[in-house]
Amino acid sequence: MSNIEGAGVEGRFWHQLADGRIQCDLCPRFCKLHEGQLGLCFVRARREGRMMLTTYGRSSGFCVDPIEKKPLNHFLAGTPVLSFGTAGCNLTCRFCQNWDISKAREFDRLTAEGAPEAIAEAAVRAGCRSVAFTYNDPVVFVEYAIDVAEACRARGLKTVAVSAGYMCDEPRTEFYRHIDAANIDLKAFTEGFYRKICTGSLGPVLDTLAYLKHETSVWLEITTLLIPGENDSAAEVEALSAWIFEHLGPEVPLHFTAFHPDWKMLDRPSTSAATLKAARGIARRAGLRYVYSGNIRDEATQSTCCHACGSLLIGRNGYDITSWNLTDDGRCETCSTRCAGVFEGPPGNWGARRRPLLVGASR
Ligand code: SF4
Repeated sequence: MSNIEGAGVEGRFWHQLADGRIQCDLCPRFCKLHEGQLGLCFVRARREGRMMLTTYGRSSGFCVDPIEKKPLNHFLAGTPVLSFGTAGCNLTCRFCQNWDISKAREFDRLTAEGAPEAIAEAAVRAGCRSVAFTYNDPVVFVEYAIDVAEACRARGLKTVAVSAGYMCDEPRTEFYRHIDAANIDLKAFTEGFYRKICTGSLGPVLDTLAYLKHETSVWLEITTLLIPGENDSAAEVEALSAWIFEHLGPEVPLHFTAFHPDWKMLDRPSTSAATLKAARGIARRAGLRYVYSGNIRDEATQSTCCHACGSLLIGRNGYDITSWNLTDDGRCETCSTRCAGVFEGPPGNWGARRRPLLVGASR
């Protein structure tokens, strides 16, 4: 079985400490490493005195997904996105839905190779409009993600980050210069949840959200997975929604998605449709214009309506677009009010398909 001792490239965002260790400055864990040690994410390692990214150019696989699956409901709707991830994660969420990838400690999971130019070429060939860093958090493979993003933009593709936003300022600025759209997981709205369930903290995530909204042109959407008894109280959903309204404004779409028992959290039931609906109602009353439910099929809570006249703009059922009433420049066909987002002409027709793709050599 191969392991973490595989090849890699030198990472950025670290410095030497006076006591002989090196410190990773990529995420707020600030792992301090002796020779041979790994960071908590298990993919950044100290070798010969330097910080290495061990997963560069290696992937758990490539798939063409609907952009709505990221989820992004206001960005190039209906188009296919080439999606991939590597291994490792800088949070330890007990409910992780991708734990086989994000918690992978054996690199046998990384069966596909993908040079940045090869990924961009494969995306163009597959008819994708964008490439997404997803399945595991691009924070931990940021150097690879930046190189892929540069290759994609050179081919006219957009770039998408799906992340928990747990990242330090300098790499955050560097990474998002290369990104066109992001869905950030806001896992809860208490420090206690982040500390107990993810062994992280809420503050840096809120910083990332505010940074993306106010200091970049990245199109931003937010996802909150509602876990029964952990983060789904009316008071917490109210506080989360009020923060978004006050600090990010009413136009940032918010997705409440359903939890299913997974990884180390098997003692909770799945989130009910009624809970998702109630949370959506709270967020709408807080002033947020675009609030959706996810991980269920429910057209009523997954469609987009005009915030000015109430007309149906985009009908959705799961990842399928069922109706379209926007002009080519993203305005309501009834009252001409602009719908927030990135809309370029008519929607794509990719639908809900998920198609695995071979990019480079497989192992
Ligand atoms: S990115 Fe990995 S090595 Fe760096 S501080 Fe975060 S968990 Fe530690």
